[in-house]
Amino acid sequence: MSYLTVSTLEEALTSLSDSSGKARVVAGATDLFLQDLPHSLVDLSALPEITVVEEKDGLISIGAAVTHTAAASSSLILARARALAEGCSAVGSPQIRNIGTIGGNVINAAPAADAAVALISLGAEAVLIDVNRETRQEAVENLYWTYNRSLVDSSKEILLRLLVKPCLGGEGSAFTRFAVRRALALPMVNAAARVKLENGLVKKVRLVAAPVRPAPTRLIQTEELVINQPVDKDTLKRVEVSAAGEVEVRGSQLRCSARYRQHLVGVLIARVLKIAADRADPGKAGD
Ligand SMILES: Cc1cc2nc3c(=O)[nH]c(=O)nc-3n(C[C@H](O)[C@H](O)[C@H](O)COP(=O)(O)OP(=O)(O)OC[C@H]3O[C@@H](n4cnc5c(N)ncnc54)[C@H](O)[C@@H]3O)c2cc1C
Repeated sequence: MSYLTVSTLEEALTSLSDSSGKARVVAGATDLFLQDLPHSLVDLSALPEITVVEEKDGLISIGAAVTHTAAASSSLILARARALAEGCSAVGSPQIRNIGTIGGNVINAAPAADAAVALISLGAEAVLIDVNRETRQEAVENLYWTYNRSLVDSSKEILLRLLVKPCLGGEGSAFTRFAVRRALALPMVNAAARVKLENGLVKKVRLVAAPVRPAPTRLIQTEELVINQPVDKDTLKRVEVSAAGEVEVRGSQLRCSARYRQHLVGVLIARVLKIAADRADPGKAGD
């Protein structure tokens, strides 16, 4: 097996194209090293252009090889995309967060990957480049194929960055999860929300729960239910019932029954909506 740590994007793309599908990109390797390893690995974790978080053209640009630790402590993400900081803080343990990356979390395509759930609630878009040097931009939720399988073939394509519209005045976001332990446990359910309020009423909202389907799942019916409503006790009660009723979930012998998971979806979606709405208070500058 060969292992190449690249220092430029061009070197990474050339080495993928020279390997004709036998090499695959790797970042922190926390997921990949648990799977069947390919013939060659191209390590992206030292590429300067994909290890930075910055504000560019009015968007937050998060390099695919930014670690969970770096994202969770980024002042920009904490101030303007809080759900992502919270999702990244929930991943694994400090050791895993120090090397595991946001890009790996998305491309590994686990149904309840914490950073991916937060990114989808924020409406993040992924920027990718392939071995023919063609770039494309896709909503993160469109990158999923099936359970633990991405539509991105990492022997031919590199995720460069994730773009998020910052939460400004009147907007807030939040992430939460429920698991048997606070560290090193996959969640029974995780949930994230982004909300925009005007005059105390919901004008835009994204509610995401997982694991529900192969990809973190938007709860569209529940989103529609809260449009033009205040986020008060009555609305939250209706959200809890609607969110639990909207999903069909599977049970897991290791974590919880389907019934308990369905109940949790309702509780956690109502909880993140409330937190996101509190953060969206127009008196504050975003979340
Ligand atoms: C003990 C343990 C606990 C964990 N706990 C959690 C948890 O609580 N929550 C959670 O969400 N995850 C958890 N994980 C999973 C994992 O740590 C995360 O998904 C992590 O973000 C993966 O990132 P990575 O850089 O290590 O990916 P890698 O393992 O390097 O790569 C994963 C996949 O993505 C591809 N890839 C990586 N970067 C790119 C790129 N830029 N472009 C194209 N393809 C790319 C690789 O080819 C591979 O297919 C845990 C893992 C372990 C081992």
